[in-house]
Amino acid sequence: MIIVLKPKVPEIKLQELIKEIEGIGLRVDLSRGAEQIILGLVGDTQSVNTVRFEKNEIVAKVMRVQEPYKKVNRLFKPDGTIVTVAGQDIGGKKLAIIAGPCSVESEEQIIGVAKDVKKSGAGFLRGGAFKPRTSPYSFQGLGEEGLDMLILAKKETGMPIVSEIMDANVLDKFVEDVDIIQVGARNMQNYSLLKELGKIKTPILLKKGFASTIEEWLMSAEYVMNEGNENIILCERGMRTFETFTRNTMDICAVPIVKRLSHLPVIVDPSHGTGISWLVEPAAKASVSLGADGLMIEVHNCPDEALCDGNQALTPEMFDNIMKKLKPLAQLEGRTI
Ligand code: PEP
Ligand code: MN
Repeated sequence: MIIVLKPKVPEIKLQELIKEIEGIGLRVDLSRGAEQIILGLVGDTQSVNTVRFEKNEIVAKVMRVQEPYKKVNRLFKPDGTIVTVAGQDIGGKKLAIIAGPCSVESEEQIIGVAKDVKKSGAGFLRGGAFKPRTSPYSFQGLGEEGLDMLILAKKETGMPIVSEIMDANVLDKFVEDVDIIQVGARNMQNYSLLKELGKIKTPILLKKGFASTIEEWLMSAEYVMNEGNENIILCERGMRTFETFTRNTMDICAVPIVKRLSHLPVIVDPSHGTGISWLVEPAAKASVSLGADGLMIEVHNCPDEALCDGNQALTPEMFDNIMKKLKPLAQLEGRTI
């Protein structure tokens, strides 16, 4: 249930109303927008009669939220959420560009790629240390050692780092060192992990599961937000379809749909979304035109020798070229890059 208040309500009346709502066992999520204050009521609202609130002198409107996701619902917060990471906004005017290799392979590799992508304008460095691989015989990532290399690259370049967590047993290390914690497509519905991530404040990059609906994706974000962590960035990364040419099929409508349904920032990963390096450029361009708040792009110093996802990795030169081409497109959308 959503309660929209009249403009300029006295603080004391607002506090009285919040107390009344909490008194009947509901939680209040307060959103102070530029124009109005909105109270999001969470809990068993079905049995609550809306009339008791409609009668209140400071209330403009009471609405029931039909969707199963509440806190991530745009109705709860009509102004979009901006997630701030080390002084950089995600969800604001400037597009967030996250670039780096699929997996951290060596100190030299990650520092080299970090310097290159920073020069081209990327704001964040990605690199997997714990890799979710289909085969147990494939390279599994360097684990904590990989994270330490990523931290070195952050020290060298000043770029905030993004890395995937697969298990809550390494959460303390991630909280200490990682600026944005990625939840991969395979873990989008790992509810116990999502609940743990909800108890921290580190921003979470929540990828869409490759066989999940948009509603299921938003419900996963709701799991995180319900525990208290409101710093969530959604990431479309393609889904599994009957098409075999591409690794995944990118849902080009996901961004505008989710931006309508939710206040959370949405970025696109055209690398996993296509799986093919020459398709990353057109898919990235499309994403910017669709209103994405940023991009996550895999860049490797030597894609042919990459230990993971070499087919979709760009060389630093290709990445630089794409960044130049994205600038005028971002401008068309009223954004900067
Ligand atoms: C990745 O970002 O390297 C990754 C494994 O992504 P996804 O979870 O989208 O497959
Ligand atoms: Mn990858």
